[in-house]
Amino acid sequence: MQNDRENVYIVRCGETALKGQNKPYFERMLVQKIKKMLKGTEGIAVERTDGLIFVRTTPDIPREDILKRVGRVFGVDSISPAHEIDITGLTADEALAETGKAAVEIMNGLIASKGIKTFKIEARRADKAFPVESPQIARRVGASVLKGCKVLKVDVHDPDALLFVNVRRNYVYIYEQKILAFGGLPIGTNGKGLVLLSGGIDSPVASFMMAHRGMVLEAVHYHSYPYTSERAWEKVKDLAKILTLYTGRLRIHSINLLPIQEQIVQNCPEDETTILVRRFMMRIAERIAQANDCMMLITGENLGQVASQTAEALVVTDASVSLPVMRPLIGMDKTQIMDIAREIGTFETSIQPYEDCCTVFLPKHPVTKPKLEKILASESRLDCEALIDAAVASEEISIIYPDD
Ligand code: ATP
Ligand code: MG
Repeated sequence: MQNDRENVYIVRCGETALKGQNKPYFERMLVQKIKKMLKGTEGIAVERTDGLIFVRTTPDIPREDILKRVGRVFGVDSISPAHEIDITGLTADEALAETGKAAVEIMNGLIASKGIKTFKIEARRADKAFPVESPQIARRVGASVLKGCKVLKVDVHDPDALLFVNVRRNYVYIYEQKILAFGGLPIGTNGKGLVLLSGGIDSPVASFMMAHRGMVLEAVHYHSYPYTSERAWEKVKDLAKILTLYTGRLRIHSINLLPIQEQIVQNCPEDETTILVRRFMMRIAERIAQANDCMMLITGENLGQVASQTAEALVVTDASVSLPVMRPLIGMDKTQIMDIAREIGTFETSIQPYEDCCTVFLPKHPVTKPKLEKILASESRLDCEALIDAAVASEEISIIYPDD
């Protein structure tokens, strides 16, 4: 098609656009993130004009690939593969004639591929200097389509094809779809947090949710090797790898909790094992967080889900640290959490049956309403600081990179 550059993607940045004076900052950040997500693909240009981001590609790059990758950038609200028509130097009549021609070609394509019978044109004049108003633009492009595609009729209520025409400075964009992305805010616009990442369903979802609000993540994982297997650790790395599709590379601190668990089992009441272990997990995480500039801890805890997540247990857990603990799943139902896990692609990996360090030394009847004084008394039988020091000193760091 003459005068038409296909393979343009209009990227809308929804919420980021609401940020008033911060808008340019968020948009620049977003362009950077999109570029990074598309890195390694030759011939792609990403630029920002008047509140929209345009990704230009070459025809050999599959559309699905672009949509998938750009769709994973937090801060992107929706994406439209679009036809771009250069109207630089054209009169309004000429510009609309060109637009009409392009619309006819697109509609002919849709008649052939989808057998559409009705259509509607929705027009928007982003460039107010363009002398024809939106309803008029829609009418004129619609008239071209009626003339060029004899089988089509207009249906403004329930059209088979809805074509958007967006008139901007120097270019007109025509597109059919608005493909919704995850929204949220670009990673890097909201601090850094340390997520306690298990091999379960919840913590990968909690990680996703915080990253989705712009937070940079780092992770800590606890194992009880040799009670937990190498395969259980592989599973955690597999989950992290899926997360990196959204977050980019991810560092995991892995820590053997077994020496601490053994001390607890030998010295403290059996029914307190779980809550005591959890307090150690938090304290070790706090140390790692502080050493790595993380401002908060993140867990996949969920009110009432298990004994260690009753309101009382959460209060006792929180009392072990001074950093804020974020629990983005706190008020959700398991089915909601599982839906998100499926959507982000972690579910199938999470449900693989490998033991977690929490299931080692699981008490038969864990306390559901722990009292802080009692827990502190139990802990006084342990050399907590030395145990934490030793655990932190034994950490191993793995860096997980996204698959290309
Ligand atoms: P998940 O599905 O994420 O494993 P869960 O429902 O199994 O969560 P718990 O096992 O009680 O719940 O753990 C609650 C939270 O504690 C997890 O979401 C995670 O943030 C953290 N956690 C549990 N086990 C580990 C571990 N082995 N390493 C790191 N963090 C852990
Ligand atoms: Mg778990």
